[in-house]
Parts: sequence; C-alpha cells; structure tokens
Amino acid sequence: MNLPVSSNSRAVVTELQQAGYEAYIVGGAIRDLLLDRTPKDFDIGCSATPEQVRAVFGRRRTRIIGKRFRLTHVTNKGELFEVSTFRKAPREGGRGEQDVRDGEDVPENLIVSDNDFGTSVEDAWRRDFTVNALFYDPVSGELYDHTGMGLEDIKSHTVRAIGEPALRFEEDPVRMLRALKLVGQFDFTLESATENALFASLELLKHASPSRLALELEKIFGSCYGDRHFKAFHDYGLLEFFLPFLEEAWGTPPMERALKLLYERNCRLDEGRYRNSISLAMACMALPFVEQKLGLEPGAPIPPRGALRAAEEVVESIFLPLHMIVRLNLSAEKIIAQQSFFDQGKLTRELLDSHTYPNSRELKIIRSAAAGIDPEQTDREWPLPPSGSERNSGPRRKRPPRKRRDRASAPA
Ligand code: ATP
Ligand code: MG
Repeated sequence: MNLPVSSNSRAVVTELQQAGYEAYIVGGAIRDLLLDRTPKDFDIGCSATPEQVRAVFGRRRTRIIGKRFRLTHVTNKGELFEVSTFRKAPREGGRGEQDVRDGEDVPENLIVSDNDFGTSVEDAWRRDFTVNALFYDPVSGELYDHTGMGLEDIKSHTVRAIGEPALRFEEDPVRMLRALKLVGQFDFTLESATENALFASLELLKHASPSRLALELEKIFGSCYGDRHFKAFHDYGLLEFFLPFLEEAWGTPPMERALKLLYERNCRLDEGRYRNSISLAMACMALPFVEQKLGLEPGAPIPPRGALRAAEEVVESIFLPLHMIVRLNLSAEKIIAQQSFFDQGKLTRELLDSHTYPNSRELKIIRSAAAGIDPEQTDREWPLPPSGSERNSGPRRKRPPRKRRDRASAPA
C-alpha cells in the first residue's frame, strides 16, 4: 500500500529503522489518509525509548516531554514529530500522579501513568479505538491492523473501542470525548457496545484531568470541526460534563450564533483564508454571550465601555473550569473587546499596534460574513496587518479550497 505520508515523517521513520529500531507512522494520520483527508500531523511509534530516540537524532533536534506519557519531540527540517515508544496496557494500580480533578471517589481503574514499554502489537491493543490503531511502515509500504478490525471499521465509519468499552472509558474518561470527536468530525457511528458503555460512563468525565481536557479542547479549537464536535458532545449528553455553560445555553439564540460564528471561522480556516488561531475560535464562541450580557441585539455594535469586563466574565464562565491557558483567555477577551474599535469605525494606533489586531480584524470579518455582508468588503475596509505578523504566517491556501457543503452542515 502506498499512502501519501509527508517526506519528513518518512525520513524520521527511516532514520530510526536504520538505527536498528522498529518504527511506523501511527494513529490519526493513517486513519485520516485512509479516509482521504489531509492529516494535521504524523505521529511516529517505535521500539526505541525516549533516551534512545535522543541518541539517534541528537540533543539539538530532540526534546523529551510528558510525565503521564513520556515521549520525544523530534524536529526534521523545521517540522515537529511526536515520537512515542511502544506501550503495553498499564499494570493494575499504575496510579501515582494526582492530575485528576479534585475528587473523592476516583474510579478504581483510572490510569494516571502510562509508561510501560512493550511491543508494537501490544501498543496497538492499548490504543483507544480500532480506527486509531493502524500502523504504517512508509519504507516497506506495509500496513498493520493488529486488532483485525481497524480497516473494516474505517470502511464502515465505525467507532469501536478496543477491548472492553466500559473498562476503557473507566481507565481514561477522555476517551469518550475522543470517540465523539470521531462522530462529529467524520460522521462515524458508535458501535453498539461502545455506545452503551459511553452512555453509562458519561459521569466519569468529572474525574478526568482538567489539563488533559483543556488539551483536547485546544485541539478541537485548533481544528476546523469544532462546531461539529460540540454538536456530537451535546447529542450524546457529554457536553454537560465537559463545558456545562455551553450545555445550559444549548438551543438559545446566543449559542446558535456562537456555533454559526465558529462555523464561519472554520470554513475560512479550511479555505486557507486565515491562519489557525485557538484564541480567535474561543472569541467566536464567547462573543454572542458578551452581546447578551451587554443587552445587545446579535451583531449590534460593541460599545467601548464594559466590553472587556463582560468578555472576561464570559470567557471565565465558559472555559475556566478547564484551566485553559491564561494567555489564550486573555487574547480571546481582547479580541472581543477590540470589536468596539471596528464598530465605532475608529482606527487607532493602539488597535493597529496591538498583537491581537490580526485576530480582531478577522473576527470583524467573520461577524460581517455571519450577518450576510461580503467578507471581501470588510477585508478591504480595514488595513492589513503588517507583513510578517500573524495573518501572513499561517497556512494560506496550502490546499485548494473545498466547497463548504462538503466540510460541514451549516447551522440554521
Ligand atoms: P487528531 O487528528 O485529533 O490528532 P489522533 O487520533 O491522532 O487525532 P492524538 O491525540 O494525536 O489523536 O493521538 C494519537 C494516537 O494515540 C491516537 O490515534 C490513538 O491511537 C492514541 N491515543 C491518543 N489518546 C489516547 C487515549 N486516551 N487512550 C488510548 N490511546 C490514545
Ligand atoms: Mg494526532
């Protein structure tokens, strides 16, 4: 089989193999390629320990990271790869760290440390879903489906937990969120035992580590499918345990508008019109609730007074339970508050010099587009950020734009 993996990832695998280790491209990238999607990164799995990976690539090109799950970042020609050592399923009682949500009754089988190295076959079986457990050797072109179901499940668009679903969700409740991301993003269906276990285990999400949930949320906002992910979380009753503020608001006009703005941002990201910015995505979600707090009609001009305070309160209500990175919160709040400059038609030095100007300008464009105004018109109206700034460093038109209908169903 010949899968179009990036040449840099192939080179990293080749170097590991030449040093005598077993190495493959693993996980989401192989799933995405088999689904004819462009992977956002290529993860590598190998028999080398983090220290051995470091010995292969040298100190300058590597960084060993993680505690619960140690792995190595390897750079190749400016591209970063996560290289992890094959794991086996953690031993019973592999607990140790206290990175779980403050809690009384921590589930018996919750895993908080996952650093027992193993073989490639063991590594496939400790993964979350069959569709995420395929290994590809880009040198020989061989594809390995150790669970025996991965390829079939990709073909039939099925999310199937590896092993006993209820136990897998108890070990790591974040897997429920990951299952529903596949539902939202690819229109996959949960296999029935996996679905039953998920419904029965939703409350366990309370015990998940907030920092890991925050990491997943960052990935959701860093993708162009966030609106679809949130819908899947709501449909399956998970949103309540993940972002309760949004669940409570579900179906209300500000929530509908939040999904619409996020959808617009996702389309523009997918079309290569603007770079990927997590804080911009957060601002899209929060803005309609700021409008509500300020007593404004949806899309009405944002007044200069009170906007920042309202943005702070809203961003905190939505994201604080997850300890989103403070820097992201602050940027999202500023991007919202700066809408007042655009809405008053005031181009100040302060606005232009601000490091959030590119994102604020983009939110203004998104708001216009959501109001039915041609985004190109707003784009022409406001000065471009200076070259070399955020706007121009993004992935502009890396791939040909796809039709919006193919990407996502537009919210009503
Ligand atoms: P994405 O496109 O969002 O990156 P992904 O499946 O590649 O999707 P990653 O978080 O990059 O997600 O994880 C890489 C791989 O590691 C997964 O495909 C899966 O095989 C494995 N994995 C990730 N998280 C878990 C988990 N909580 N439990 C078991 N395996 C996991
Ligand atoms: Mg990945």
